[in-house]
Amino acid sequence: MSEDGATRKRDDYLEWPEYFMAVAFLSAQRSKDPSSQVGACIVNQENKIVGIGYNGMPNGCDDDLLPWSRSADDRLNTKYPYVCHAELNAIMNKNSADVKGCTMYVALFPCNECAKLIIQAGDCWDHTAKIISLLGRLIRAFYSKCAYIFCSFGLITAPKMLVFSK
Ligand SMILES: [Zn+2]
Repeated sequence: MSEDGATRKRDDYLEWPEYFMAVAFLSAQRSKDPSSQVGACIVNQENKIVGIGYNGMPNGCDDDLLPWSRSADDRLNTKYPYVCHAELNAIMNKNSADVKGCTMYVALFPCNECAKLIIQAGDCWDHTAKIISLLGRLIRAFYSKCAYIFCSFGLITAPKMLVFSK
């Protein structure tokens, strides 16, 4: 065996947490919201992704017609009554029966509406306590070994998309 390391596995591969958080950050890039882009990635206990989402207007609603502003005289002319948050979309997009025991990777602290969704979807929390203290028990700090992940399509020799037939 050679001493140049070519036959050994890489040591600097992406760990699972960084990989899933990167998926959440990448998903955020899909958002059309001009002021905040948030992505979420739900992972089951087998480290398989079961849901991805980002903040955006509800399905079927024309995002060229709905407002994207953060303030207006009439609240109905702001984005807030309409935008679906990343956490909501990730849960709604799930490809598993439920998200019990799963972990959600998300860049921002969830709002109170998403906190309720996360707690209800998990179905194992004490509903008598305050939402935010419950959420504090759910949330784990995310520590990354790397500050950023570099991704360039130029580094891939010949990127391809494979489409399965219907
Ligand atoms: Zn939210």
